Formats: sequence, structure tokens, C-alpha cells
Amino acid sequence: MNFCSHCGSNRLTYEIPAGDYRSRYCCQQCGTIHYQNPKLVVGCLPLYQDKILICKRAIEPRYGFWNLPAGFLENGETVEEGALRETWEEACAQVEITKLHCLYNLPHVNQVYLFFLSHLTSPKFACGSESLEVKLFSEDDIPWDKIAFSSNKFALEKYVLYKEKYEGIHIGTYRH
Ligand SMILES: [Zn+2]
Repeated sequence: MNFCSHCGSNRLTYEIPAGDYRSRYCCQQCGTIHYQNPKLVVGCLPLYQDKILICKRAIEPRYGFWNLPAGFLENGETVEEGALRETWEEACAQVEITKLHCLYNLPHVNQVYLFFLSHLTSPKFACGSESLEVKLFSEDDIPWDKIAFSSNKFALEKYVLYKEKYEGIHIGTYRH
């Protein structure tokens, strides 16, 4: 952080504020302490009959790799709304959410992923602007070595193992 987003000053220090135990960006001009917290990434694992809808990325990082429709939650959105929006934006697919499927921690990049199991309301889908290709995969055809992110791999693995039988939420964490 180079400038204070409150007053515009460049007089920022990175230090532990009084009564705190972690370093924060502190503005020496206006006194604002800038707390930074993890971001939520929300998405769907969209199902149609016994197949899973997966998108090929048209953007970096991991251009050309496959992933489930997901993206950063926007301010003012619920996590379900964000997951539905991302599924529409990336796969032009309308789905109904069944349940929260998994939660995946990425503490090294300050992100938490939430994936919802969902069902396409019809077999209609197409490439959104961030996708090169959108396709329904049967379990046996999932391109495991071309899945973009560990969070997606986790969501897919848990689905393949447990289908919709598991009543809890799968929780995982990326380990280096
Ligand atoms: Zn300031």
C-alpha cells in the first residue's frame, strides 16, 4: 500500500497499532488504520444429469486450463448470488443451487473458496467472455491434469468421491 485510501497521503507506516498484535498499514496523516482481510471466491459445481459443466479459461492465470465457474464475491452480493452470477458470466448457464459443497482455504494468497452444488435448469450453456470452451464432462473424462486450481481439483475430487450423498461440507486447505 503506497497511499492512504482515506486521505490520499503517502505517509503510511507498516506497524502494529496500539492494542493490536499484527502489523497494519497506518496513515500518519489522518490516523486511519487499514485492515486487510481475505477475499471470498464463490462458484458452482454445475451438474446436468450425470455430467459436470467445466469451463476452459480464456484469461490468465492458467489460460487454457479448465475450471469451475467462480470468481470474487462483489460488495452487496450474497455468496449464492455471486456463485450464480459467475456461472452465468463464464458459462452462460442458469442453475439452481442445491447445497454448499465445499470450502477451501488459501491462506498464502488470502482467499477462501466456496463452491455450491447446482443443477442446470436446461442443457443450455455457452462461452462467456472469460471462457474458450464450456463443456459437460462425465466423471471419467474430467481433465485432471488440466484443472487450473487446487481449489477446483478439491471440489471435483470430493464430488466424484461422495456425489451428493455427503450431508456435510467438505473443508480443505492448500498446503505447499
Ligand atoms: Zn490517511
